[in-house]
Amino acid sequence: MGRLKGSKSLWERYGHQQLELLEGEEVKREVGSTRYVGALVDHSGGHLHPLNLVLGQAVALESLGGKIFEHSPVTRVEHGEPVTLHTPKGRVTAQRVVMAGNAYLQGLLPKLESKAMPCGTQIITTEPLSAELAARLLPNDKAVEDCNYLLDYYRLTADNRLLYGGGVNYGGQASSSIEAAIRPKMLSTFPELGDVRVDYAWSGNFLLTLNRLPQFGRINSNVYYAQGYSGHGVTCSHLAGKLVAETISGEEARFEAFAQISHLPMPGGRLLRVPLSAMGAWFYAMRDRLAV
Ligand SMILES: Cc1cc2nc3c(=O)[nH]c(=O)nc-3n(C[C@H](O)[C@H](O)[C@H](O)COP(=O)(O)OP(=O)(O)OC[C@H]3O[C@@H](n4cnc5c(N)ncnc54)[C@H](O)[C@@H]3O)c2cc1C
Repeated sequence: MGRLKGSKSLWERYGHQQLELLEGEEVKREVGSTRYVGALVDHSGGHLHPLNLVLGQAVALESLGGKIFEHSPVTRVEHGEPVTLHTPKGRVTAQRVVMAGNAYLQGLLPKLESKAMPCGTQIITTEPLSAELAARLLPNDKAVEDCNYLLDYYRLTADNRLLYGGGVNYGGQASSSIEAAIRPKMLSTFPELGDVRVDYAWSGNFLLTLNRLPQFGRINSNVYYAQGYSGHGVTCSHLAGKLVAETISGEEARFEAFAQISHLPMPGGRLLRVPLSAMGAWFYAMRDRLAV
């Protein structure tokens, strides 16, 4: 509760006035689980279907004359003016390039490789729940993340499925069985879902930085990058897009504010960062379990 109170007063100092602390039984107003001693509700927040967001943005981009080329990964960047981007079957030249491949870039941004680490996380989605059951789990349709080091996160979908995610695979590998890894987490929050079927399961990678802050910057005068949202990129990648656009148009101040944040290498460097982070995470997960 101390940490939640601390977050609330810090954010309020920065002007965020739509936060509400809930203690004890009050939590049930938002989450039908006995797992929590308290909660911080952000009344300015929301949740969305990220694939639909991407599809909508693709339509918007094409309507403005932009072109999208799928299944043509850039395999090499030849810096210069213009920049030449090589793909398996061709190349593209550009006056300016924005590198936003995040956890999937695979070596194309060597300057930053030791300063971030791809991590896998996974999600399961139940069969559609009755309206009564869905309203018992999340009465006000909020999206939730818990306060653990390896956190669980969940929300309802538009067709009343419970979408439940959690866990981290350092290095970015997927679990062999996502349902086996995530279902027990879901049941410890909502034991009444014991007989509910899981219809979908998937995983993907996000990019973790040591200080959990995003990496914005430039390689040289015409190649920009934005990455490393540490699992919270749905909103922050949009801020990145806005600030990259600003800086390309000559207004550099807001982009530079982020670019000046210093980023340290992940402990262990490229070779040992995965086992060392897994050991560190094990330690913090243990502390979560022991509630210390
Ligand atoms: C299971 C899961 C749950 C998550 N939940 C949340 C959440 O609840 N809230 C939240 O804010 N964030 C969440 N995240 C994190 C969020 O998805 C990322 O932070 C966000 O997608 C980052 O956006 P991005 O555009 O930088 O990278 P991405 O969305 O990863 O997009 C990168 C794109 O670059 C392309 N690319 C990569 N390399 C190349 C190349 N060489 N050539 C051409 N194209 C390339 C990739 O194909 C991909 O399309 C979650 C992530 C996962 C995996």
